[in-house]
Amino acid sequence: MAAIHVPGQPVIDDGFLVSSHPATGVEVGRFPVASGDRTRTATAAARDAGRWWIGLGHAERRRRLLRWCSLIADRMTELADLVNREGGKPVADAVVEIAAAVEHIDWAARNAKRVLGPRRTRTRLVTAEFSGHLEYQPLGVVAVIGPWNYPVVTPVGSIAYALAAGNAVVFKPSEYTPATGQWLVDTFAEVVGERPVLQIVHGTGEVGAALCRSGVDKVAFTGSTRTGRQVMATCAETLTPVLIEAGGKDAMIVDDDADIEAAAESCVWGSMTNAGQSCIGIERVYVLDPVYDAFVTAVVERAGRLTVGDDPGDHLGPITMPGQIEVIRRHIDEALAHGARAVLGGAAAVRPPFVHPTVLVDVPHDCAAAREETFGPTVVIHRVSTIDEALARTNDSRYGLGGSVFGKRRAIAIARRIHSGMVSVNSALTFVGFSELPFGGMGDSGFGRIHGEDGLREFARAKSITQRRAPSVLPTMTFERTAADVARIVKVIRLRYGRH
Ligand code: NDP
Repeated sequence: MAAIHVPGQPVIDDGFLVSSHPATGVEVGRFPVASGDRTRTATAAARDAGRWWIGLGHAERRRRLLRWCSLIADRMTELADLVNREGGKPVADAVVEIAAAVEHIDWAARNAKRVLGPRRTRTRLVTAEFSGHLEYQPLGVVAVIGPWNYPVVTPVGSIAYALAAGNAVVFKPSEYTPATGQWLVDTFAEVVGERPVLQIVHGTGEVGAALCRSGVDKVAFTGSTRTGRQVMATCAETLTPVLIEAGGKDAMIVDDDADIEAAAESCVWGSMTNAGQSCIGIERVYVLDPVYDAFVTAVVERAGRLTVGDDPGDHLGPITMPGQIEVIRRHIDEALAHGARAVLGGAAAVRPPFVHPTVLVDVPHDCAAAREETFGPTVVIHRVSTIDEALARTNDSRYGLGGSVFGKRRAIAIARRIHSGMVSVNSALTFVGFSELPFGGMGDSGFGRIHGEDGLREFARAKSITQRRAPSVLPTMTFERTAADVARIVKVIRLRYGRH
């Protein structure tokens, strides 16, 4: 029978990181904590494995990645069960997360050659005698540092694209979800067993910092804004480039011509899925005055039906990190103390390790609940008079990750004006599983993009090659040019680009 631990902070026992369920404390597994030496050795081995991986070429890499993809698809219920046992996430949510990860692996594998492979470029007037060649070459070794809240799709969003681009990867999963990370790496080894193309190093933040310093060619970090700053500072020591996917305070705007029932359904899903522990979770809603009351009623009615507990079939599981419960409690209590009303839940909704659905209205705009990432099953609904007011308040945030708009005639125009990387119109969070579309934020939500063509290019460097095809008619790049040549260059350039 599995050992039972005090639920909460993961423990390190005799050099092993012990992973257990956040509510029941049932042990899920033990993983050796990587030393600084082990991290450096992993990166060195990855460099060697990466050369072999590049040598396989796009076609063989695609074949291997597609086999990994099928293997995960075939065993997705086993993985969903593990995600549930380790992080407390309801099985249905884990299945949705794994489905998105599978889509991304498939897309990255099938599109890497098209997006990154060699191509000829057009020539221009002064370079007409040359041909241009462009290709995107792998960086070498990519470090992927992942969070616990989506322990499959967030790391896979970087790992699959980095591997498809021809890189080797060293992955540091969150100390809260090492077993899920290990499962991903072990299944990859079943399809790429020859060399350590995808490795894992376990441990706390110190191991993540050691990985940043281990000589990797890029760090793809997903986690909190605070840690993102530390990762960037560490990477600055060696001028190692970074991709930062950090936190958010995403908003939904509900216009007066929106389908209110559909908007309420998406609001409840977007704010409460994974017990609200989503970087792209809807944490605040701006609703036009004429539909405000109907919207609040519909949200409360739906959110009030959600079940909370550690049964794998519950809608909301436990809050994975005990420290986060105090953040959620502080946000709710402060809002209530400043005149907000809880139309569902409230202070009594915080029952560690669970938080029950909470809907707050009349929250002053300077309260933490309205401005900072809460990361719990809470949502703040504001009444606004105009779309301009909704947009001004939405954009008055240091974050800029995703967002949602419900409406008809001007929904797309509103979506364009939201300061964020992604917006779902008449749905919530849907862009995350959309392999064609890049994913990433601005401001304190980070920079760089995973997913889609940009996501592949994020893990490659452009390589430009020119090749002479014929002698130069207009000799520019030589000291052999004559005064007559220069006069002809002036004439041709004026003829072609002048006269304005
Ligand atoms: P953290 O920032 O606490 O941790 C993220 C990862 O960084 C973990 O693996 C952590 O290790 C590691 N780490 C911690 N300190 C350092 C360090 N100094 N150097 C290198 N690595 C370090 O985030 P959480 O795991 O708590 O994840 C939740 C956060 O992630 C939320 O803010 C959420 O919004 C954000 N997020 C963003 C997403 C996006 O795509 N934009 C997607 C999902 C989540 P350890 O866990 O062992 O401390």
